[in-house]
Amino acid sequence: MSTEKLPARSENFSEWYNQVVLRAELADYAPVRGCMVIRPYGWALWENIQQALDRRFKETGHVNAAFPLFIPMSFLEKEKEHVEGFSPELAVVTVGGGETLEEPLVVRPTSETIIGYMYSKWIRSYRDLPVLINQWGNVVRWEMRTRLFLRTLEFYWQEGHTAHATEEEALEETLRMLNVYTDFAYNEAAVPVIPGRKSETEKFAGAVQSYTIEAMMGDTRALQAGTSHFLGQNFARAFDIQYLDRNNQLQYCWTTSWGLSTRFIGAIIMTHGDDQGLILPPRLAPIQIVIVPIYRSDSEQSQVMAVATQLHKQLSTRFRVKVDDRSEVTPGFKFNDWELRGVPLRIEIGPKDVEKGVLTVARRDIPGKAGKSVLHPDNLEAQFGQLLDDIHHSMLKRATQFRDEHIFDPKDYEELREVVQHGWAFSWWCGSAECEAKVKEDTKATTRCIPLEQPAGEGRCIVCGQRATQKVYFARAY
Ligand code: AMP
Repeated sequence: MSTEKLPARSENFSEWYNQVVLRAELADYAPVRGCMVIRPYGWALWENIQQALDRRFKETGHVNAAFPLFIPMSFLEKEKEHVEGFSPELAVVTVGGGETLEEPLVVRPTSETIIGYMYSKWIRSYRDLPVLINQWGNVVRWEMRTRLFLRTLEFYWQEGHTAHATEEEALEETLRMLNVYTDFAYNEAAVPVIPGRKSETEKFAGAVQSYTIEAMMGDTRALQAGTSHFLGQNFARAFDIQYLDRNNQLQYCWTTSWGLSTRFIGAIIMTHGDDQGLILPPRLAPIQIVIVPIYRSDSEQSQVMAVATQLHKQLSTRFRVKVDDRSEVTPGFKFNDWELRGVPLRIEIGPKDVEKGVLTVARRDIPGKAGKSVLHPDNLEAQFGQLLDDIHHSMLKRATQFRDEHIFDPKDYEELREVVQHGWAFSWWCGSAECEAKVKEDTKATTRCIPLEQPAGEGRCIVCGQRATQKVYFARAY
């Protein structure tokens, strides 16, 4: 870790973000433009995200499988909107083993096509439905403007792909998974996302309807943090995914797909971090409690280390704990280092604490003295469980408050143009692509989502003044 100060978050958010990612050793730049290496600390965070999601996928009846990285080019061409949307972002393999390939292979940008092809082979009758498969893997999209975690050429994610007998069931699944993402964001990451529907312009290439969870970052920009798509029968028709119904009639399936990627790590960093660096939500943090021993002499060291080791052993049964026993750096350096890395709780053990039989604990989310408390060693597991829970709730509360303070209801278009420079506008919108495009042109803000929760009644479109039956969030986005 370098000891140089981070750029101030309030002054240069973008540079602050890059420096936090690099210095906290979450990730590093790779030799290829737009690609990155996820380092062990970042990967451990991703593993915890994976576990939290995977558990929810399994609870809702899904199973995991793995499909190939290479997809024949002709597969993508089968769904018109899909190929149009993804063409500019494709990486294509034309040579294999020194020979020009008969058919170019696409490195998967997403797997609807290859999975659709397999489903058409596997699905025969209504008894085979629903098919509820998820895949954990990596995909490649040749993005032009890249940012660590937020938008990379290659990224890790999960993609769920399901096939159903009826439209109603597929729609239900699409919203079920949107709910799973929302639940994960609130209850694991303490990120207060807003679930809603994407506009026609912003939806996934090939979908009938796309749903999203939108998060507000610390600079008020929006981040699409996960998506769930209702694909109608578009892919079923393109890939001939058919089944015999109870009356022996051949029917096309209804399909869905949903994905959440390593971008979510960016959402966590930009929702919670501060000038000192990361603040990781306790339920996902790779290290939940770090123990820093403080001593001056050898005898103090052995005294303090004995307590630290015992404490580590005791707490490890329930929490992810680390003892920082480095002898080449000072306790002060260690404090800064673990603050930068966002560890939710730090225990400081010095000779005085050992003598008194107490523990000094510092919360990452409340800097300085206010976040410190002294614990007596009875029922420590429960006390630490409570503290970590408190941190989760206070992080969620703070982020929600920040979000709500930066959502505006502009009275007219002039005011909308102004508020999207420092927040989101929540406004009535007639639904036309022209009005959407005008806002984008004038302000760079796009429609983020039409939230599921809508106010009663109707209003006038903030752009054209026509009758409007829905409210939408306009915001500048990552
Ligand atoms: P999509 O298949 O386009 O709906 O993408 C699923 C999710 O992956 C999106 O909601 C984003 O959160 C995320 N995502 C899309 N493109 C990228 C990218 N280039 N890098 C990282 N994450 C991405």
